[in-house]
Amino acid sequence: MIKFEEAYKIITDSIKLFGQEEVSLNDSLFRVLAEDVRSDIDIPPFNKSAMDGYACRRSDLKNTLEVLEIIPAGQAPTKNIGANQCSKIMTGAPIPEGADCVIMVEQTEIASENKIRFTASETLNNIAYKAEDISNGEVAIKKGTLIQPQHIAILASVGMANPLVTKQPRVAVISTGDEIIEPEGIPGPSQIRNSNAYQLIAQIKKLNCIPVYMGIAPDDPEKTKTIISDAFKKADVILLTGGVSMGDFDFIPSILKEKNIDIKFQKILVRPGSPTVFGVSNEHWIFGLPGNPVSSFVIFEMLVKPFLFQLMGNKEEIRNIKHPIADDFRRKKTDRLNWIPININDKGEVATIEYHGSGHIHSFCFADGIMTIPFGVGEIKKGELVDVRPL
Ligand code: AMP
Ligand code: MG
Repeated sequence: MIKFEEAYKIITDSIKLFGQEEVSLNDSLFRVLAEDVRSDIDIPPFNKSAMDGYACRRSDLKNTLEVLEIIPAGQAPTKNIGANQCSKIMTGAPIPEGADCVIMVEQTEIASENKIRFTASETLNNIAYKAEDISNGEVAIKKGTLIQPQHIAILASVGMANPLVTKQPRVAVISTGDEIIEPEGIPGPSQIRNSNAYQLIAQIKKLNCIPVYMGIAPDDPEKTKTIISDAFKKADVILLTGGVSMGDFDFIPSILKEKNIDIKFQKILVRPGSPTVFGVSNEHWIFGLPGNPVSSFVIFEMLVKPFLFQLMGNKEEIRNIKHPIADDFRRKKTDRLNWIPININDKGEVATIEYHGSGHIHSFCFADGIMTIPFGVGEIKKGELVDVRPL
């Protein structure tokens, strides 16, 4: 039995660098950047107007100003601004020489033909200055960034049309158990519908990895071995659910040992999800997740997800967020780290929700996050900060 932090370290220490490939900008969403991306230009590339208005000298704001020309976006100014002069300018157009501010068109009036006047008492400069966002050669997005839409905007702006990203791990999913049937069937007496496989496939897809569904392995060692061997050929990471606890038919750990997989741990001091198995071989990583639906869900979130992210080179820790707890919390047994589903109320406080234990995955349909109660902690007072992993 090892603590969660130790299990986490063993898992992340086992990571080897994954391959890389170039993809189009449109295919780069939720991929992980494999190199630093530097800008090939200054952004903005020139001092540009942030408003529709008149470019002029701040020292002339009290005077009547002669309008020299109109500068649309996409055209260069042709006239320098001198004393008591201005040029009408559109948002995004280059600021003419001699001007140091832009007055908004809404804060001006026509004084006479070709002359305007500033009508407000003060103004911002309303200029986006050359290179104030990103300068030429600067690292705009760092290696290891999980690409979100805002990163795509920057990749496009700095001319990175085909970013280099890490390859997507292929992740096999194997359900186990004689009692498990597929969702379209009607369960007979003592049968259970397979929810874990579809939930895990969805969790894998949410990380933009590639799921490979291997079906249900019956509680038969030979047949299970065949399916695992097949999964080795088709995937980089293998997730098994069920068959890892102490029952007569829980023989997954012994099969893995027979297949020369180096089992790193078989039990963690957590609830739910204690009988989690993790093993490695040359080119594969294997997780044996407990069959209980909440266990497979939560262990994926807390261990498999950071593992898959880091395999793709995303070094960012998946962060817990601290929130105050809405009420006193107590538990009797403190020999495990505990995860429970919670809501965040309108005051930003953590409130526990109805939860019947590790079979009750329905509870997570109403949860905003998972709260961690650390190993050894039996009591948390109202208002104390707790760790929440948002869902
Ligand atoms: P096991 O880890 O095989 O002992 O299974 C623990 C519990 O999880 C049992 O109640 C199983 O019926 C249930 N279970 C196992 N696999 C699945 C699955 N794929 N979908 C839903 N429940 C499952
Ligand atoms: Mg089973």
